[in-house]
Amino acid sequence: MRFAPSPTGMFHVGGARSALQNWIYAKQQGGVFVLRIEDTDAARNKPEWTEGILSALDWIGIERGGYEGPYFQSQNAGEHRAAAQRLHDAGRAYFCDCTREDVQARTGSQYTGYDGFCRDRGLEAGEGRALRFRTPDEGVTVVVDLVRGEPTFENKLIEDFVIARGDGSPVFLLANVVDDMTMGITHVIRAEEHLPNTPKQQLLWDALGVKPPIWAHVPVVVNEKRQKLSKRRDKVALEAYKDEGYLAGAMRNYLMLLGWAPSGDREIVPWSVIEDEFRLDEVNPSPAFFDEKKLRAFNGEYIRALGVDEFVAACQPWLTGTDTIAPPPWQPEEFDAEAFAAVAPLAQTRIAVLSEIVPNVDFLFLAAPLIDEAAWAKAMKEGAADLLAAAVAAFEALATWDAESLKSTLEAVGAERGLKLGKAQAPVRVAVTGRTVGLPLFESLEVLGRERTLSRLRAARVRLP
Ligand code: GLU
Repeated sequence: MRFAPSPTGMFHVGGARSALQNWIYAKQQGGVFVLRIEDTDAARNKPEWTEGILSALDWIGIERGGYEGPYFQSQNAGEHRAAAQRLHDAGRAYFCDCTREDVQARTGSQYTGYDGFCRDRGLEAGEGRALRFRTPDEGVTVVVDLVRGEPTFENKLIEDFVIARGDGSPVFLLANVVDDMTMGITHVIRAEEHLPNTPKQQLLWDALGVKPPIWAHVPVVVNEKRQKLSKRRDKVALEAYKDEGYLAGAMRNYLMLLGWAPSGDREIVPWSVIEDEFRLDEVNPSPAFFDEKKLRAFNGEYIRALGVDEFVAACQPWLTGTDTIAPPPWQPEEFDAEAFAAVAPLAQTRIAVLSEIVPNVDFLFLAAPLIDEAAWAKAMKEGAADLLAAAVAAFEALATWDAESLKSTLEAVGAERGLKLGKAQAPVRVAVTGRTVGLPLFESLEVLGRERTLSRLRAARVRLP
C-alpha cells in the first residue's frame, strides 16, 4: 500500500482520508504502508509542502518512522526514463511531433483525442518529439476495483496518450506506474479523480509485463452544494482545521466516515473499532459530503471526553499563539493559569473547537473587556443604568464573593424591577465580559474577583446616559 501525494499545496482533507484508508488497509493485511512524495512537477513543488504533508500525517496518527519512506518520485527518474525507452524499443510507444493545432486541424475538433497520425511514421527521438503509448485498437481494459467492482473501458476509446514530453521527461501517468512497480505495490487506494487515468495506467502495467495492482478509487469529497471540495472555494487544508482547534482524534474519526460507517448505529467510535471494522469493499462509491457542522459536533464530543487536565493542555496553543495560530488578545504576563484552570471545566462543555476558548476567557486576562458594540447595544436598553447601579450596590455589600451569593443577589435586584434573572444578567454580562454569550456568568464573576467585577460594572454605568 502506498500513499502518493504531490507536494503542490496545503495538504487536503481528502488526501488525509485516502492516507488513513491506506494506513488501515496495510495494517489489516499485514502489508507495508509506503509514503511516496510525487515531486516531479518541479514548477509546482515546494519543499515546505512536503514538510506540511509529513507533519499533517503525523498529526492525524500516521507517525514519522511508522511507515516506509518518504521516498521521492524524483529520485526514481532514471527508472522512469528506462521504462519509456523499453516501451519504445518494444514497439509499444512511438515518437510524435504533432502540435495540438495540427491535431485540431486534422480532426476538426479540439475535443477529440490524438488521431494516431505518427503511429507508423517511425520517427526517431528528437527535440520536441513526445513519446506516445500505442493503445490497443480492440478489446477492453478491465480494472479490478475494490470500491467500484470492475469498471470496463473500451480500448478503442483510449487515445494514444503521451508518456514522455518533448524534452524527454516522463509524465505523471508513467512515473506513477513505474514507481508502484519498483516498490512492489499491490494495492492502489486513491481518489476517484484518478479513475480516468486507470485504464491507461493498467495498459502500461501490462505493456511493461507486470501484473497490475488491485485498485480502489475512493469517493470524491464534496461540499454542501455537491461540488468537489476546492481549495479556492472551500476550507480544505487539514492544517486549517488543526489550527482552528479540531482534535486529531475527532478529525480522523470523521474522515473515515466519508463513504463508510462502523457497525451499529454508531459514528463516534474509538479508533481501534475503526481499525478492526473498516472494509474497503464496504466504501460507498458515491460522492461523500464533507459536513463541517457534523465535524464540529464530533469535535465537541471529543473535547468533552477529555480529562480536564488534557483539555487545559490541549488549549495551550490558543492561549499563547504559535507559528500558525494567532496570539490571544492578552499579553503573556496577563495570563493567570489558576484562573484559567478554574473556568476550564465550564468552557470544556461549551466549545466545539479549541480556538473558541479565547473569546470565552479573554475577559479574565485583559485589563478591560473587549466590548462587542452590537452586544452592548442589545443589552444596554432602558433600565440598564439603573440595574447596573443597583447591582454594584448589592454586590459591594456581599460578605462572600461566590457564584451562589452573586446569583441570588442579582436575582433579587432583578425581581425588584420586575425582571427575570436572564434579563437582569444581560447588562451585567456585557459590562463584565463584553459579550452577550459566554461561560456561566456567576462562576465567571467569582473567578474574576470582586475588585475587577465592580470596576467594570461601574465603568459601564458611567458610559450609560
Ligand atoms: N500524486 C497523485 C495525487 O496527489 C496521486 C496519484 C496516485 O495516488 O496514484 O493526486
